[in-house]
Amino acid sequence: MKFHNKIGVLAYHGDVIEHITTANEAFQNLSLSVQIQEVRTKKDLGIDGLIIPGGESTVLHKLSRREGIFELMKQIPFIFGTCAGAIMLAKKIYHKTSGQKTLQLMDIEVDRNAYGRQTDSFEKKVHTTLGDIQAVFIRAPRIITIGKNVKVLARDADNIIACEEKCDENLYIAASFHPELTTTLFHEYFFRRIYQR
Ligand code: GLN
Repeated sequence: MKFHNKIGVLAYHGDVIEHITTANEAFQNLSLSVQIQEVRTKKDLGIDGLIIPGGESTVLHKLSRREGIFELMKQIPFIFGTCAGAIMLAKKIYHKTSGQKTLQLMDIEVDRNAYGRQTDSFEKKVHTTLGDIQAVFIRAPRIITIGKNVKVLARDADNIIACEEKCDENLYIAASFHPELTTTLFHEYFFRRIYQR
């Protein structure tokens, strides 16, 4: 694969800045000469991988479709989705709004807003295969089932809160919480899987 040395962050709304800051910190920690590309339109798509931030999955769907990149995103080989971004990756979602579509790249089923309303948001310490972290859940989805090729990266009690799926050369990582707010571990892991194979 020929690298562009650019990682995209879908930049319509949500915690875009937080992902950019954390990604840049992770590049530094890994000594990678990689740049962040804010992705809004087709011209932004010369990237090695994409981060889809939290926000509202309905908005992410609508705006990416309006800009003509919804279908094109399905061809990006490495995608890391957090919260609404995890919803975007799922094959099947529950409690979707009418007409809401996802990229359907990962063999996971996700229930939107399953932890309750915005005011039911919370944070807690969790174990992950990458280390212990503080996990922030903001009107989070629940990953309710995963396919046999999906590997769990973190659980909170019985709930899977982070997982990954490798399909041929492609890799997708989903987290129902917001790692970009508290840790560089997930970004570093994602970038290592792309650039240090
Ligand atoms: N509730 C949002 C959705 O359904 C996700 C929340 C978030 O990304 N923090 O898309």
